Amino acid sequence: MLQFLGIGGAFSVDLGNTSAFYKKENELFLLDCGEDVFGNILKNHLLEGVTKINILITHFHSDHVGSLGTLVFYCDASNLEEINIVFPNREKLVELIRQFGIQNCNINIYTPKEFARLKIKEYRQEHDVIEAYGYIIKLDGKTIYYSGDTKSLPDEVFALLIKGKIDYFFQDVRLKQNPYHLSLEELESKIPFNLRKQINCMHFVSEAEINEVTEHGFSRVRRFESEEKNGNIKSSK
Ligand SMILES: [Zn+2]
Ligand SMILES: [Zn+2]
Repeated sequence: MLQFLGIGGAFSVDLGNTSAFYKKENELFLLDCGEDVFGNILKNHLLEGVTKINILITHFHSDHVGSLGTLVFYCDASNLEEINIVFPNREKLVELIRQFGIQNCNINIYTPKEFARLKIKEYRQEHDVIEAYGYIIKLDGKTIYYSGDTKSLPDEVFALLIKGKIDYFFQDVRLKQNPYHLSLEELESKIPFNLRKQINCMHFVSEAEINEVTEHGFSRVRRFESEEKNGNIKSSK
């Protein structure tokens, strides 16, 4: 299922920008593309054999879109068959693409509703002043909730969680109260104790924060380790 290139917040260089991916055959599905994501994609050879890339963006903070321009430029120069970018606000995405100077690349822009390949439902989130979205995504028969960055938990998503309709639940969290993310205390007040293990927390500041979150009964995401990094790569060369 989803794997994570990074699990950290904007300033947590050691943990990497929170970003998830799913690779199947010749298709790469990417959730967010922060500053270090392009580099991590190349280092992990994730584009090998890929002819179609689908990039779903939660919001335009640079720890979520910082290397989007370079990734798209690279994919276009590599003659990928399809570069699809999905975001609910088409005009804002077009403007971002223009700001990145990649408007001449061969890009398809979709809102979640228009993107027929995957079933994606967006939820407008609460994230300081920025327009941010969380998503329910159907991927390979599984239902995933990906919060993005948010201070809120949509009622509809919570109802689905309670009914056991969400297979994988990913939630950003922060120890202290702040205008950007649910604090651990807020998350505890919302999620019944017996369901905490099902909440995979992400977007951490530090290892100490990760420990505190897991001590309170929540799960955590882990960074993807490529086979090559583990020394298990098949000697195909
Ligand atoms: Zn962020
Ligand atoms: Zn953010």
